[in-house]
Amino acid sequence: MFEESAQDLTPISRLGEFGLIDHLTREFVVHNPDVLKGIGDDAAVYAINDKEVHVVTTDLLVEAVHFDLRYVPMKHLGYKAVVVNLSDIYAMNAKPFGITVSVAISSRFTVEALDEFYEGVQIACQHYDVDLLGGDTSSSRMGLLVSVTAIGKADKKDIVYRSGAQEHDLLCVSGDLGGAYAGLQVLEREKAVFLKNAALQPDLVGRDYVVGRQLKPEARADVIRMLREQGIKPTSMIDLSDGLASDLLHLTKLSKKGATFYEDKLPIDHETMLVAEDMKIPGLTMAMNGGEDYELLFTVALENYDKIKTMKGITIIGHMVEEEAGVHLITANGTMVPVKAQGWNHFKE
Ligand code: ADP
Ligand code: MG
Repeated sequence: MFEESAQDLTPISRLGEFGLIDHLTREFVVHNPDVLKGIGDDAAVYAINDKEVHVVTTDLLVEAVHFDLRYVPMKHLGYKAVVVNLSDIYAMNAKPFGITVSVAISSRFTVEALDEFYEGVQIACQHYDVDLLGGDTSSSRMGLLVSVTAIGKADKKDIVYRSGAQEHDLLCVSGDLGGAYAGLQVLEREKAVFLKNAALQPDLVGRDYVVGRQLKPEARADVIRMLREQGIKPTSMIDLSDGLASDLLHLTKLSKKGATFYEDKLPIDHETMLVAEDMKIPGLTMAMNGGEDYELLFTVALENYDKIKTMKGITIIGHMVEEEAGVHLITANGTMVPVKAQGWNHFKE
């Protein structure tokens, strides 16, 4: 391999994160008949008997890439590492029951710091009623790496894939958008101030909501429960980890549908708009491309309109159209803008 000249080799940035995953996994086909879904959804699905399935998902968090310990408390990190995985389980319309937690730790960490991290893990376990099943522990040359795997269960008939959206379905989102990104901007700004003058205390006044969205996200177990109680099974679903634009494009691509949705319907919190103003970033950009909200984006059949429109914390932002019509945002002044993903992509140049 050392004989090849650098010109023949492909920089990862040329493929991007999703292109790289497609590239690396293209030769793998699922052979085991119990595996109902392998790569390509929020979690993999496998049958445990005729009626029931388990779902499994995993995530890796890397210090200085996914989190900055200068403003992320270890306890919050432990909590969030669990929550982001549970979010993928709920996005399959399943209920999580167990996690494994693996850590690689550099020598700069103390036992007390790791105790705090595990306190966060435990609070999340209690809150979401899941058990810690195991994990792995290693040293690391630099920084902290955390990997969590979550397992959940569901009846086979209840599983919701990214691929099930139908034309005319309502496109819905839980909670509000862009808050976690707004919180990140505030924390980054205060970090920059602190690095210039360590005597200055961070000014987070009036920004508690968005900072909380960044540091302590929740998985929408409540939304899954509410939909079930109302007798509504979404036709497709994905959790919003990379931003509305990017995640909606996954859903439309896998469902082989287009979508039309409306700027003036997008739920954006007042605080997010204030941060957008402060930072001179359009609120719309935050909502479309800000990651880590961990809300649920889903579609339901049109017949559910009356029930959905009165559901607390759920917003109908648009509807599904035929694939050929494409994915479009209708701006507040009525312009139709094609949607391109600009969300979180690790390898973009
Ligand atoms: P999510 O944002 O919901 O966590 P990802 O975008 O991380 O999903 O992953 C999309 C799909 O690709 C998932 O099915 C995931 O399991 C799979 N995947 C990601 N990275 C790899 C990898 N290195 N090898 C195999 N599968 C992967
Ligand atoms: Mg996901």
